Amino acid sequence: GNQLVWFRTDLRIHDHAALSRAAARGPCIAVCTLTPSQWREHGHGDNKLSFWYRGIEALSTDLKSLRIPLKLIYADTYDNCPKALLELAQSLECTDLHFSNQYGVNERTRDEAVTTLFQDNDLNVHRDDANLVMAPGSLTTNDDAYYKVFTPFYKAWLKAVGDDELSLYDTPSRQAPIKGVESDTLEMPKLESAIDESQWPAGTEEAENRLEYFLRYRVRHYDDKRDFPYASSTSTLSAYLALGMISPRQCIAAAMGRNDNRLGDGDASIVSWISELVWREFYQHVLVGFPRVSMHQPFQEQTKKFKWRQSTKDFDAWCAGETGYPLVDAAMKQLIKTGWMHNRLRMVTAMFLTKHLLIDWRWGERFFLEHLVDGELGANNGGWQWSASTGTDASPYFRIFNPTTQSERFDPEGHFIVQYLPCLEPLAKKHRHAPRKEQRKECGYPEPIVDHKAARERALDAFKAL
Ligand code: FAD
Repeated sequence: GNQLVWFRTDLRIHDHAALSRAAARGPCIAVCTLTPSQWREHGHGDNKLSFWYRGIEALSTDLKSLRIPLKLIYADTYDNCPKALLELAQSLECTDLHFSNQYGVNERTRDEAVTTLFQDNDLNVHRDDANLVMAPGSLTTNDDAYYKVFTPFYKAWLKAVGDDELSLYDTPSRQAPIKGVESDTLEMPKLESAIDESQWPAGTEEAENRLEYFLRYRVRHYDDKRDFPYASSTSTLSAYLALGMISPRQCIAAAMGRNDNRLGDGDASIVSWISELVWREFYQHVLVGFPRVSMHQPFQEQTKKFKWRQSTKDFDAWCAGETGYPLVDAAMKQLIKTGWMHNRLRMVTAMFLTKHLLIDWRWGERFFLEHLVDGELGANNGGWQWSASTGTDASPYFRIFNPTTQSERFDPEGHFIVQYLPCLEPLAKKHRHAPRKEQRKECGYPEPIVDHKAARERALDAFKAL
């Protein structure tokens, strides 16, 4: 019978286990469920939604080269998916459904409902975890629990994966046309993406080019330069990985290829880049092991009681990049303008919000998701809870980045700062990190909304009280 392959956050045809398996069983038909209300409820904004829709279009083109038609279901929310998928499968005479797992609570509930409904109607369901190298549940501590700390997880991950070349799933060959089944044309919704979309072409071709370019020209500086926002030494693959336009196996296999096929030793830059991809896996495992993190709850349950300040005024200043701390403000402007923020700055801004302003990490988590092209529950929640000291591996509460010192260290010349705050360009480089009162006046740049020392003390007291 026909094989229905349901694409979700795995918008690619290369190294795609479900597609590869389906093609070995029979003629394939692809389907995407479009659930914009659900995606919005989960916090994704137009930058990401636009990238998502464009990714589905790119997938449709890739599938056409294999003569696999792509059907679209406008389901709006997850609840509508099971019935609509079953009707489609039955009308196209499909006997099997294939998909790769997702790990958020609502995604898992939806997938269980789909699986049950299909099985009740005598259709086969095949699921896999091929969007990760290691499936959740496959790496556990000695007491058979999910890891709560990254380093032991990483060690277990390295051991399990080993240094054997990672094998990739075959891309199916072009199939015979399926009579009477045509691809649907995507109706692009009206979206107000605020960024320059030409910087984010969606699809596998772009993702694979970025990987190639990164490994060729950038990765060698990764170990020393990855924390410097002005250095552009990271891969900018996060948005592509979040929607599965490229697989982590493809990334890791290619990186190992430049490291004598080694995973955890050898070239320091490659090893450290691979370890970032393992962070991504770690946070997906955390979603499954600790479902509370998908439900707006802190990982460290004792922090539930924490009294965050409800200051919308301070929050708005942070969102707008008007805190008076140049590195924080430049970073927020980068987010709003480009839909992406450098990792070091995500930590700096998140810590500023949660420690200096004592504002709830969930406010910041949501604001990030509204703007990020790469917005993704696992990594975003993980990063926010780490910064707020409420999460796994949480940075100890007394670790509070000094935004001025961070600025002097990681943007010593202030190049990044003036890229996003051109008003500070006239200042000598050393003054760009913390302009003097009169310089702020001249440049039209705001005074700091909090004093670092006082804010630090306030945060320490609040956390100690917990
Ligand atoms: P590279 O340095 O090239 O890293 C390669 C890949 O590894 C990334 O593409 C990403 O998939 C993964 N990765 C890197 N760092 C991390 C990390 N700390 N945690 C998990 N995965 C990682 N990443 C997202 O993909 N989506 C998010 O919504 C997100 N929100 C974040 C929020 C906060 C507060 C913090 C501190 C971090 C967040 N990150 C998020 C992680 C990280 O900042 C981005 O993945 C990274 O900056 C993306 O740039 P890159 O692709 O050039 O990364």
